[in-house]
Amino acid sequence: MSSTPLTLQAVRERIESATRVAGRPPQSVRLLAVSKTFPPEAVREAAQAGLRDFGENYAQEGLEKIRELSELALTWHYIGPIQSNKTRAIAEHFDWVHSIDRAKIAARLAEARGPWRSELQVCIQVNVSGEATKSGVVPAEAAQLAKQVAALPRLKLRGLMAGPEATPHGALPRRRFGQRREPRDR
Ligand SMILES: *Cc1c(COP(=O)(O)O)cnc(C)c1O
Repeated sequence: MSSTPLTLQAVRERIESATRVAGRPPQSVRLLAVSKTFPPEAVREAAQAGLRDFGENYAQEGLEKIRELSELALTWHYIGPIQSNKTRAIAEHFDWVHSIDRAKIAARLAEARGPWRSELQVCIQVNVSGEATKSGVVPAEAAQLAKQVAALPRLKLRGLMAGPEATPHGALPRRRFGQRREPRDR
């Protein structure tokens, strides 16, 4: 038997206990499964276990899965770096884009989002750790970019995306996210 249902249950329990500690309703956290590098069958299995949201970081790989699994009505999130020659395909087939870090890319996505589809849900990616390997705007430029993105038609700005540096300690990522809260609210 597959381990997906068990893993999923463990993750849901962690979300529930973390939201309880934070005084938030558990439904205020949406679980996004990163399906990049996994085959369509793994996504199908995860969908059977109750997952609805999946994240991909290569346009081509994502598009193939979206096509193959279209009858499942899943919500697809683009979480990877965006090349300008891929903006049309991403805008046409994904529901969310988390990795906006340039106004030019946002404008191209807006232009390519078909009027027959709902608005593309987008996040600004912020490089909170300053690591050279990470994409994202520097924190000081996030507000300016957010203003530009919010002014575009066909896109709906939903928040910030950030990946703190890998560490075995919970305090650092919490601080990184905490530092973004006030700018996010603004
Ligand atoms: C790949 C990826 C993840 C998940 O990373 P794992 O190392 O697979 O756990 C999370 N966020 C983004 C933006 C990613 O590209």
